[in-house]
Amino acid sequence: MNLHEYQAKQIMREYGLPVQGGRVATKPKDAEKIARDYGNPVMVKAQVHTGGRGKAGGVKYAKTPDEAENYARGILGMRIKNFPVKKVLIAKAVDIKKEYYLSVIMDRDKKSPLIMASREGGMDIEEVARRKPKAIKKLWVDPVYGLLPHQAKEIMLSLFDDGKFALRSANIVEALYRLFTECDAQIAEINPLALDDGGKLWVTDAKVVLDDNALSRHPKLEKLRDPDPGEDKELAAKEAGLSYIPLSGYIGCVVNGAGLAMATMDLIKKYGGEPANFLDIGGSSSPEKVEKALSILLLDKNVRVIFFNIFGGITRCDDVASGVIRATESMKIGLPMVARLTGTNEDEARQILKNSPIIPVQSMSEGAIRAIELAKGN
Ligand code: GDP
Ligand code: MN
Repeated sequence: MNLHEYQAKQIMREYGLPVQGGRVATKPKDAEKIARDYGNPVMVKAQVHTGGRGKAGGVKYAKTPDEAENYARGILGMRIKNFPVKKVLIAKAVDIKKEYYLSVIMDRDKKSPLIMASREGGMDIEEVARRKPKAIKKLWVDPVYGLLPHQAKEIMLSLFDDGKFALRSANIVEALYRLFTECDAQIAEINPLALDDGGKLWVTDAKVVLDDNALSRHPKLEKLRDPDPGEDKELAAKEAGLSYIPLSGYIGCVVNGAGLAMATMDLIKKYGGEPANFLDIGGSSSPEKVEKALSILLLDKNVRVIFFNIFGGITRCDDVASGVIRATESMKIGLPMVARLTGTNEDEARQILKNSPIIPVQSMSEGAIRAIELAKGN
């Protein structure tokens, strides 16, 4: 789960990290008010689940409250890498003398947390890794022992020539590591960690990615979820016991079983079509589940035809057929539908669908071909 910068900063603040002051605004006027409260130059920053906001024009330095309002107006209407900006963070601008990079990530190959630090802060770490790999200090932490005091010092000594300053700053990497492990994060990153003119370090950009599989241990963090476009559908599906992944095509698929769902997508591709989604309604599907699946699938406006591919085992074909009929009665589908229902109770299913507009097919291949033809208007 991705967090916004302002959320990541809030957590970092709770862990004692030196985070610059900031508040969130959803309206330009509020941005102006916050800037006026601070009485200093402020940064106006798009809050979206992607980096590189600075380059995209989503991070601005505002010298006056009026400027903050204007920048906020511009940024609040933007899309950055296709993420619509709905919030801006108004942060007290730090007088930056130098930018550093500091992060803890999970290194799956080494099965250990990896700490990275660099004097080349501010830009993407991937870019630094490509251009100047030696400029990144890497240190793997044994998760059993945790981050040892000498390791924290070693990291900070790689950043600063002033040894005393480095040792005094070791608490920063210690706090970041503590946050990383206690929150079950996959990434905890500060970029830039900024040094100001007074010789003080500040967290001026923060990124935290949490492990979805550990969220049940962190109900408070779970509440910070702000779904991305498309992700809300995935979550609604998950709640209904369905696995749904939106894709970029136009043939909506309703399938039982993950393997069959994959095979269905492969077949559609093989015959020259594009699946709009992966949708596994699971075993023992009730009519309600099928109805729910259709309602989620139909939120995708690119869908031009629906292809049911059901292999009845525990799932009964007549249940699926009833779900389809119920769905056609409770909502306006308005799209052609192709159904291949085979296995348990397939004769009953055929009876149920007999007087419906749903086109029956005998095999998966026939279904895929028919669905593609229908999508093309044939
Ligand atoms: P990103 O582009 O999404 O990584 O957003 P950042 O928050 O890292 O901002 C991009 C750049 O804006 C940083 O590398 C800094 O150079 C600059 N910046 C961010 N915050 C401040 C600040 O408080 N003061 C100043 N002077 N510059 C800032
Ligand atoms: Mn950054």
